[in-house]
Amino acid sequence: MDTRAIQFARTGGPEVLEEVRLAVPPPGPGEALVRHRAIGVNFIDTYHRSGVYPAALPCVPGVEAAGVVEAVGAGVTHVAPGDRVVYFCSSPGAYCDARTLEARWLVKLPDAIGDEEAAAGWLKACTTEFLVERCAKVQPGDAVVVTAAAGGMGLLLCRWLAEVGATVIAVTSSPEKGAMAAAAGAHHLLGYADMPARVKELTGGRGADVVFDGVGKATFDAALDSLRRRGLLVSFGNASGKVGPVDFGILAAKGSLFTTRPTLFDYYATPEDFALGTARVFAMWPKLAVAAGRRYPLAEAAQCHRDLESRATTGSSLLLP
Ligand code: NDP
Repeated sequence: MDTRAIQFARTGGPEVLEEVRLAVPPPGPGEALVRHRAIGVNFIDTYHRSGVYPAALPCVPGVEAAGVVEAVGAGVTHVAPGDRVVYFCSSPGAYCDARTLEARWLVKLPDAIGDEEAAAGWLKACTTEFLVERCAKVQPGDAVVVTAAAGGMGLLLCRWLAEVGATVIAVTSSPEKGAMAAAAGAHHLLGYADMPARVKELTGGRGADVVFDGVGKATFDAALDSLRRRGLLVSFGNASGKVGPVDFGILAAKGSLFTTRPTLFDYYATPEDFALGTARVFAMWPKLAVAAGRRYPLAEAAQCHRDLESRATTGSSLLLP
């Protein structure tokens, strides 16, 4: 069989995305063929397209979708044809109607979670889980800064952090985005220019325990300056560009700070991590109020990328086959 797909043959702006037809191989051992019902859009898709992260060319972007299993290969027992599933995976290829992929990424969806809801929140909720609970190990009462707080990741971070009893300080580029972060549980709202002074003020001069920052280059210095002595910067993305070469001594100079640059795939690397993380995400799901923001037909993937990269979106965007 074949599928419609969105592909890029060279890296560049959204204009390099083009619609093509590609063969879908039957699932081999350990693989499954999934027909997509909703495709989750993530900032990483733009990194693959622009070349910020390497991808083998030609490349079909996309690392997350929800759909129905059509066929499974030898040795696959945890999902079967007809099952509704969601997945994130380390190899791009989700911007299409149907694909074959390693079945180990597939997780069966309960009836209570719809396809669009699943595709809008799965990768980002799993990321939020590991960032909050296993990477930063946030404690009740911690003062935590979240930048890009009305984005796909940002809203989930606000909800999860509020749920575990942290004081959430949300940073956004507009009051409208701030209002969305507040509705997601943020206690204090700031613009980027207010960092670090307002964070210090809100924490009685001490500074935040943790900063979660997916903006990267543009906020790195302000994020470090917002921390308390021995505080932790979790730099988990590069929406404004990669953080450049860093003088290690800066961490000493600014108060014996800690920093880490974690990725989802290192925290969901073993079957044990995967089972633990996904179970925790399902337990928290009812509290996360996951909902799709903008929906685009699959054919309009380029417009979706333009909107995401120009900060025009809030929450999670979807491509619909
Ligand atoms: P978002 O929906 O958060 O969109 C990006 C947001 O970043 C924008 O809405 C904007 O919010 C903010 N931003 C600040 N500066 C810029 C800029 N120069 N260009 C574009 N946006 C900018 O995207 P996602 O939720 O998909 O991803 C958020 C971050 O999380 C990304 O950096 C992504 O790479 C990272 N991520 C990391 C993972 C990991 O494993 N490490 C896994 C998943 C996501 P505002 O206007 O309020 O500033």
